[in-house]
Amino acid sequence: MELKFNPKRLSLARQRRRLTGKGLALAASISAVTISRLENDDNEPDEATVAKLALSLRYPVSFFYADDPEELDTTAVSFRSLTKMSAKERDAAIAAGRLGLEVSDWLERQFNLPASDLIDLSYETNPEAAAKALRGYWGLGERPIPNMLGLLEVKGVRVFSLSEATRTVDAFSFWRDDRPFVFLNNFKTAEHSIYDSAHELAHLVMHRHAGSQTSRAAEREANGFASAFLMPANDVRSRMPRFITVDLIIKAKSRWRVSAMAMAYRLHSLELMTDWQYKSACIELGRRGFRAGEPGGIERETSAIWRKVLAQLWNERTTKHEIAATVNLPPDELEGLIWGLAGPMVRPDRAGKPTSLRIV
Ligand SMILES: [Zn+2]
Repeated sequence: MELKFNPKRLSLARQRRRLTGKGLALAASISAVTISRLENDDNEPDEATVAKLALSLRYPVSFFYADDPEELDTTAVSFRSLTKMSAKERDAAIAAGRLGLEVSDWLERQFNLPASDLIDLSYETNPEAAAKALRGYWGLGERPIPNMLGLLEVKGVRVFSLSEATRTVDAFSFWRDDRPFVFLNNFKTAEHSIYDSAHELAHLVMHRHAGSQTSRAAEREANGFASAFLMPANDVRSRMPRFITVDLIIKAKSRWRVSAMAMAYRLHSLELMTDWQYKSACIELGRRGFRAGEPGGIERETSAIWRKVLAQLWNERTTKHEIAATVNLPPDELEGLIWGLAGPMVRPDRAGKPTSLRIV
């Protein structure tokens, strides 16, 4: 069977590289009309044209001859700060999500991964109660979550990274059939990513059927959920003294693994700090650098799944380049989707025999 050039894949790669049709035309020295005709499936490109496109998009030729890419129902994708995003950034992030699905499909074929164990809390409009219900269902009690990313993975959420060097894309999440996905921007602090994970978890359990989840109310709910899920009210109340200083906030934030600002916000919303105390604490925290970052912050969480997958593939002498080729992706895209998630590893484990493909 002769392979057919897939116009949808051309659009996908172009959007992923943040190019307009005109931009790609310029980069590939092809006319803009030709690009548009190719994407509309009006023309079949010759080999030389495909080579030019592949080169300027830095995608392997094989990418353009694969099956139709997964569509992502964009109304089901919840973005933070959508208003600040340009269409180009949004399209690029969505494109990353669609590529992530292809990597995920490959992963599911190779490995036995945890099934989804989330509950539907869409009836719940009180984020505090929703966070409590989910903690209860998972039997987490009220202690801090030692590893939020690991928790998501164990509960069947497929987590990928967004290596977007832009501050406007924090994270996004969506359901595909019965599988929940979360994409996290790795250019944030570890504390910020943990908060993003809990925020996206809220969308998955509270707003699954809400369609477009970018309303202000949904964002407020997701933030309320994240705050309550990461810093359970009873635990915080029982551990914080009556008079809270900035030094205490900084100490507390490492217990609950959140940013100092998120900690202060929670203490204020639990009425453990007055408006005035909260206000001056924020000013002081800002002065100490806690608005721009997290001085003395915690280490970034890593993905147990990707660590195991990469360790096993390493044992089998499969390189990341080979996986990239299997899924028809350029290595930088694969790297981007799992970048930072696997942590600074992966050392070959000579002792461990890759006998089992089971990850859980
Ligand atoms: Zn959100």
